[in-house]
Amino acid sequence: MYASALLTFIQYETIIITIFMEAKRGLLIILSGPSGVGKGTIRKKVMEDKSLNLAFSISCTTRLPRPLEKEGIDYYYVSEEKFKDLIAHDELLEWAEFVGHYYGTPKAPVEKLREQGKNVILEIEVEGAKQVMEKCQGSDVISIFLMPPSLEDLEKRIHSRRNERATNIEERLAKAKREMNLKYNYHYVVLNDDVDRAAEEVKNIIKTKLAAQIVK
Ligand code: 5GP
Repeated sequence: MYASALLTFIQYETIIITIFMEAKRGLLIILSGPSGVGKGTIRKKVMEDKSLNLAFSISCTTRLPRPLEKEGIDYYYVSEEKFKDLIAHDELLEWAEFVGHYYGTPKAPVEKLREQGKNVILEIEVEGAKQVMEKCQGSDVISIFLMPPSLEDLEKRIHSRRNERATNIEERLAKAKREMNLKYNYHYVVLNDDVDRAAEEVKNIIKTKLAAQIVK
């Protein structure tokens, strides 16, 4: 009788620890969409909500910093040689070439943050997003495609980045047009018609997922 009570207690304890451990590992949130759609703005707005326990995955890039960007905050700016070294040593969760430069997500920090219970946001272009969706499947992964209200709107946004070279603008636009159909590969599509509204929608997606994880 005592033995069976003890066994029941141990079983319950195991279940509770398992639930606790599962709940502790953070979500992986892929925020993708064409360049210029406003991923960065939405991501920063969403991250203001501290209740979501979010962390931003800082990418590596071989492109030069833009005027207000900072090393270790916006990106890690690396040489092409260093980037290729990271690929060779399998240190990137995903990577892609985008308009003449390399961009990639360092693998170890994402894993560490998720282990610490942080819900990690990857703000990445579509090719990298595809790689992550293939590699990381499961109930703790969410993919969100951010849509511009129209291609004209996207064109205006890309043009407004004054530090972008004209050839880059054309290339980014042509690429954006091709990328629009990829939205069907994502769990969610969010229209960035208004920053506050779109950020609210992304927050609600994350909140719903977190709530479902607790219930599970
Ligand atoms: P930008 O030069 O405008 O900062 O970034 C160009 C594109 O690369 C954007 O769509 C941006 O979201 C994406 N990007 C930024 N970091 C990464 C990354 O680590 N991996 C991939 N695949 N794309 C990234």
